[in-house]
Amino acid sequence: MDDSGCKAEKGVLYIVATPIGHLGDMTYRAVGILKTVDVIAAEDTRNTARLLSHYDIHTRLISCHEYNESERARQIVEQLASGQSAALVSDAGTPGLSDPGYRIACAAIGEGLRVAPVPGACAAVAALSAAALPLDRFLFAGFPPKKGGPLRAMLEDLAERKETLVFYESPHRIVSLLESIRNHMGDRYVVLARELTKLYEEFVRGSAGEVEAAMRKKEKIRGEITLLVSGKPDEKPEIPDPEVLEAEILSLLPDNPSTARLAAMLAKRYNCSKNDMYQAILAVKSRMET
Ligand code: SAM
Repeated sequence: MDDSGCKAEKGVLYIVATPIGHLGDMTYRAVGILKTVDVIAAEDTRNTARLLSHYDIHTRLISCHEYNESERARQIVEQLASGQSAALVSDAGTPGLSDPGYRIACAAIGEGLRVAPVPGACAAVAALSAAALPLDRFLFAGFPPKKGGPLRAMLEDLAERKETLVFYESPHRIVSLLESIRNHMGDRYVVLARELTKLYEEFVRGSAGEVEAAMRKKEKIRGEITLLVSGKPDEKPEIPDPEVLEAEILSLLPDNPSTARLAAMLAKRYNCSKNDMYQAILAVKSRMET
């Protein structure tokens, strides 16, 4: 394999994605960069040491977690400025997404240094890719607040969004999150993605209530969960006044000679019974004949 671009350049901070379960999801470039940087800053050095050993990487490891990120950022930026290179990895997936990374990237950019992504696994994107939900726009909501008030406020705010929503949640809070979604956003269609890329990978699809019931049936909910919630559905327009409806039927009749098909189309448009629309069309047709 051509390894151009797989060797670390001096003075660059690499943000390196690592697997979210399947070790085979490490990229060639990630291995090359981690082998050749001067230092790897990791969220949990013991966890990353196992990954590095699997790929025969012997680069120096230092910790960089939620509680020392600012301090580490200063040290790493000094090293980068002196011509060294560094990589940042989190426990799994893409650093910065509900993981440390933001502060260190800001510090490097603030000093005019180059920050380069080494893309790879990300639970949110993996879940979206196989969810069969609209992906033209989505909103990453991360971990929702644990307390009732802020959670409710967040869900009520998100209830208005039309794009697919992405949440990270722990297995012991997922049932209560689904319940809150049902209460504050309506019984939306959701896709629960559990243990992505791992042996017991599972997708559970259905309304929030159905998926909640499926989770309640489990003796113990295990593993890591990404929850996707469909965006606010388009509101169906209200059935127009009889005269307006008659005018609409008159305009549609020339292209829709089948009463049954036209009734089905209008019933879908206005979310009402096919039979009501069928009768309305017949009435318009009989008035046309007289
Ligand atoms: N930065 C990571 C990423 O890019 O996916 C996410 C880190 S966040 C601390 C961890 C959360 O991601 C988990 O609690 C879970 O919600 C989600 N997650 C991570 N791995 C997952 C997997 N294999 N399957 C489903 N969700 C996962």
